Amino acid sequence: MRSDLEALVRIPSVSNREFDQAFVEQSAEAVAALLRGAGLEDATVLRVPGGAPAVVGHHAAPTGAPTVLLYAHHDVQPAGEVGEWQTAPFEPTVRGDRLFGRGAADDKAGVVAHVGALRALAGELGVGVTVFVEGEEEVGSPTFLEFLRTHREALAADVVVVADATNWKVGVPGLTTSLRGLVSAVVDVAVLDHPIHSGMYGGPVLDAPTLLARLIATLHDDEGAVAVAGLVQGPDPVVDDDEDTFRADAGVLDGVRLAGSGPITARLWTRPALGVIGLDAPRVATASNTIAPRASALLSLRVAPGQDPDAALAALERHVREQAPFGAPVTFTTVDRGRA
Ligand SMILES: [Zn+2]
Repeated sequence: MRSDLEALVRIPSVSNREFDQAFVEQSAEAVAALLRGAGLEDATVLRVPGGAPAVVGHHAAPTGAPTVLLYAHHDVQPAGEVGEWQTAPFEPTVRGDRLFGRGAADDKAGVVAHVGALRALAGELGVGVTVFVEGEEEVGSPTFLEFLRTHREALAADVVVVADATNWKVGVPGLTTSLRGLVSAVVDVAVLDHPIHSGMYGGPVLDAPTLLARLIATLHDDEGAVAVAGLVQGPDPVVDDDEDTFRADAGVLDGVRLAGSGPITARLWTRPALGVIGLDAPRVATASNTIAPRASALLSLRVAPGQDPDAALAALERHVREQAPFGAPVTFTTVDRGRA
């Protein structure tokens, strides 16, 4: 299994369309071959127009037995700044007792876990099995619904097992029974109709990045809890984790205080989380002595289970408009919405 995982990690199947999609095709074919080798003889690559290649394979259900659908995805995120990696992103490398490489965990490990289970239970599955390995999860699954509609029959199942979440601890598996939803929106703050010289005009008018920063600062209270009215939060989970474990897992730097209060698991699972995942403002390297007329931020909001994503977006938009600093025009453009 490990060599199969390593072979998949070596294929840079980045589904972001700025990257060579031939590798996504290659990884789809590799996954189909693994599934065929594990007994799903009909495993093949399917797609809908404009979509990335997915892999679907079947083991027919014995009479009267249910069918289990096993899900994973074979595409990965871009490697980002390669210089920030301790080892080459697409060369799987063991450090300590961990295997590092882009997609080694998310989600090629999920693919290989399904393959390993099929191998281990070969000939005595006792249920029908459908494996569905998507190729565009990391870009928001743009053709997912169309794919489900088109291949409805091929994907029919009684229960779905998604291998694309975390374990509770290293060596301790977990079952994830709910996930937060995700919405995102671009907030654009404008202040001038053209850039002006900061020596001539600076003082009476604040630049757009400063105004945007002030707006962003209203999204959380002084403790770092989300301060947007109208966002719901669910009950605290029955399990909790200690702060030290979270700090170590997340790589929080010494001295940095954690945000919010209450159980760590509530902050992670049943309450909203809000962050800035992109910023457009003049670049430091090419900056000049001008007052920037506009600036934008891409806000990403994790929505607690139980809240409709459109209601969460409406609450966020209301907050952003009410908090518009210094009367500056703010535009709010929804980018994505997904249900908890
Ligand atoms: Zn994933």
